Amino acid sequence: MLYKRSSELFVEANKVIPGGVNSPVRAFKGVGGTPIFVKEAKGAYLYDEDGNRLIDYINSWGPMILGHAYEPVVNAVVEKAKKGTSFGMPTALETEIAQLAVSMVPNIDKIRFVNSGTEACMSAIRLARGYTKRDKIIKFSGCYHGHSDSFLIAAGSGLSTFGMPNSPGVTEGTAKDTLLASYNDIENVKALFEANKNQIAAIIVEPVAGNMGCIPPAKGFLEALRSVCSENGTLLIFDEVMTGFRLAKGGVQELYGIQADIVCFGKVIGGGLPVGAFAAREEIMNHLAPLGPIYQAGTLSGNPLAMAAGYEMLKALNTDPGIFSRLEEKTAYLESGIQKVLTDANVVFTINRVGSMISVHFDANPVYDFTTAKSGDNETFKKFFHGLLKRGIYIAPSAYETWFITDALTYEDLDFTIAAIQETAKEL
Ligand SMILES: *Cc1c(COP(=O)(O)O)cnc(C)c1O
Repeated sequence: MLYKRSSELFVEANKVIPGGVNSPVRAFKGVGGTPIFVKEAKGAYLYDEDGNRLIDYINSWGPMILGHAYEPVVNAVVEKAKKGTSFGMPTALETEIAQLAVSMVPNIDKIRFVNSGTEACMSAIRLARGYTKRDKIIKFSGCYHGHSDSFLIAAGSGLSTFGMPNSPGVTEGTAKDTLLASYNDIENVKALFEANKNQIAAIIVEPVAGNMGCIPPAKGFLEALRSVCSENGTLLIFDEVMTGFRLAKGGVQELYGIQADIVCFGKVIGGGLPVGAFAAREEIMNHLAPLGPIYQAGTLSGNPLAMAAGYEMLKALNTDPGIFSRLEEKTAYLESGIQKVLTDANVVFTINRVGSMISVHFDANPVYDFTTAKSGDNETFKKFFHGLLKRGIYIAPSAYETWFITDALTYEDLDFTIAAIQETAKEL
């Protein structure tokens, strides 16, 4: 495959955009080489500026769960655009998508829409602090909750790729209110509660972690977080930006039957447009302005194009629950195919998977937290990435990312992918 045009475009981009990209992980720093510039995409495929076709396992980092340029979404956005793209006034569609989301997700009465997952998590934390009148939060190493200040402390993927455990520009004052715990380590969490009595507003967690590869919660871990929060008057925030509307219609709350106090959404909920949302029981949500004193706002929040895209996406997921079992079956098929060809090739690896989130770690040991996620062999990952890329398979350009399976993938695509992995394994 040739990347001539992509290389030229990257040179031009670097002159006017820092690092040539508008989000760091796109820059291929973790794997080397030139980022691929996309021209268009349809279904399971990306078409780049050099005319290459790639089978896409990233799907815009999750949103395109039904494939690229999914027609009902595209049509709804086109029709809406003709009628005006933003008003800064309420529209009926905002209520419709809110009603639909509330009907799909357990334990929420009200939802507010924002423009990104970052905004959703940032707002959820403010709500939790305002509601509990406490300052501190607990987050887990390797979990990513967007790039707002409170969360840029051991924040997984993008940051791990660049070896920046913290970011300059985050003040010590902010950092001191973020307490760090290890994923899947409940004793660690209990010790933090012991040392910070009546000070912890919230625990924020990716209930299935996806930003250090895919890491499932250990048996009993989420239940234990729920209990410790309830015992201490602390709110449990599920950051379902990645898992929401992907692992089940109602997300991880439904999948594992655990009740969160606040839930954050992004990615799938926008159908590929910039949308995030946070939701909770009425009693909590009513503390938000204009009903309550906790301020949160957005000029483009609830934007008609974004809401049209999100509504069509949620409607599709709501009316065909078979989507989730198809995704499970396709991803399980891919998993067992990869297991077989990598084992046959004597490659040292571990695969983690929950539903349509899957990651391959080049490590013999179980991967269950940030420390074990980081111990994988990065050099092998780079070869794996480039081996797949030259065979027309696009996975995330970082060893710390999950693959997102789309319903647009056929079994033929999966077989093609497994064969490409078999070939690539010979080069590792
Ligand atoms: C992607 C992601 C975010 C941030 O969402 P953006 O839309 O990129 O701001 C937050 N939390 C999790 C779990 C994510 O995967």
